[in-house]
Amino acid sequence: MLLCTGQALALGNPAVALIFSSCCLVAWACQRTHRYLLSVCAAFFLYGLAATSQVFWPPRDFAWNTMPAGLLYACSTVLLQRGMLLRAGARFDAVPVLAVALLQLAALAYFHFIDPHVVARTYIHNGAAALVLLSGAARLGKLRHGRQVDRVLYWIFLLFAFSFVPRLVLNLLSPIGKDPCAFSQAPYWLFFLLGQALLNVALSLAIFAAAVSDVFDALRSERDTDALTQLRNRRGFENLARQAIPPRGGRPLSLVLADIDHFKRINDAYGHTAGDAVLAGFGAVIAQCVRQRDVAARIGGEEFAVLLADTDAAGAGSLAERLRRAFETMPWPMLPASERVTASFGVAALEDGEGLDALLKRTDALLYAAKRGGRNAVASTLDAAPGTLAHSSG
Ligand code: GH3
Ligand code: MG
Ligand code: MG
Repeated sequence: MLLCTGQALALGNPAVALIFSSCCLVAWACQRTHRYLLSVCAAFFLYGLAATSQVFWPPRDFAWNTMPAGLLYACSTVLLQRGMLLRAGARFDAVPVLAVALLQLAALAYFHFIDPHVVARTYIHNGAAALVLLSGAARLGKLRHGRQVDRVLYWIFLLFAFSFVPRLVLNLLSPIGKDPCAFSQAPYWLFFLLGQALLNVALSLAIFAAAVSDVFDALRSERDTDALTQLRNRRGFENLARQAIPPRGGRPLSLVLADIDHFKRINDAYGHTAGDAVLAGFGAVIAQCVRQRDVAARIGGEEFAVLLADTDAAGAGSLAERLRRAFETMPWPMLPASERVTASFGVAALEDGEGLDALLKRTDALLYAAKRGGRNAVASTLDAAPGTLAHSSG
């Protein structure tokens, strides 16, 4: 079969879709936690199949093409909406979109078997796609405030979803009526194919860029996370702390350092596994007590740090005191009931012109003052004299 210009142009769309679908499959195979890639892969694959079938078997040649192609298009838009929502962590409601897809198929069947009307069928395809995709875009609004890659994806997806509306309007303006031959030759149809090809490529690239960026983010987060406590590790802490220092607008910022007391003895007496459980327990206490914007980390074997934004030394001191108490009263199922685990703390507020290293050094000195003073204590820059502890319960 020789391809006319329209057919050759029209084949570009499914070709792009099928290539992109394969890319999504490969990306999903590398990072299986990103399940949205499977939905996007299936969406582009079904679209590719439907569009290919329509190029080679246009409605006027094979009547049976309409319903299978309609089914593939409907599933494709539903899956694309699902993939986009899954990626953004937004809720996907299957019932309304499946209802739209069923109505779409019923209307297609009507305008195919009962009152054959090719243009009516294109209204139905475009109307249903616009409805499903725009309702998806409406739930993706938070992407507008995300990273650059999310913002680009949002606007391209919105444009893609919206592109089905002018297709509807132009179909309505078209004088073609029911003649399918004239319809497939119409210049505006070629114009649409070209526009659609560009939008398909743009959407594919935007989704792919977002997927690659997600993978890098996941790797970066893994690199900066301590596997035992799920807090940041030293590298993650330093990266975030250097971004937070100096604080904007001269706002206060404080550091709490904590070190578990006689931890070596716990390891020696009860084993490394029990020691690990104590570290994980201390990490969980810290995670519970800090705010989302605080940076909590395990920066050494049994040493922890919390960087507190918008907090002065008094505020940081009271957090340290809460942590100290929570820790000293914590039950440890893997240790004898009489065993108590405690920690010592150093607390300091950032001074004008001070950098992270100097702040760490100063706070560390206070932490060791707390150790020297008998442990299970908080030593702060606010203490009356060096070595006088804000609190100690021995
Ligand atoms: P101090 O009260 O002076 O801080 O005494 P300490 O025993 O807590 O301090 P020391 O520095 O002597 O010992 C720290 C111990 O922490 C030694 C090391 O084996 C242990 N440790 C470091 N990292 C880990 C870890 O990931 N898991 C476990 N179980 N132990 C660790
Ligand atoms: Mg230590
Ligand atoms: Mg210690």
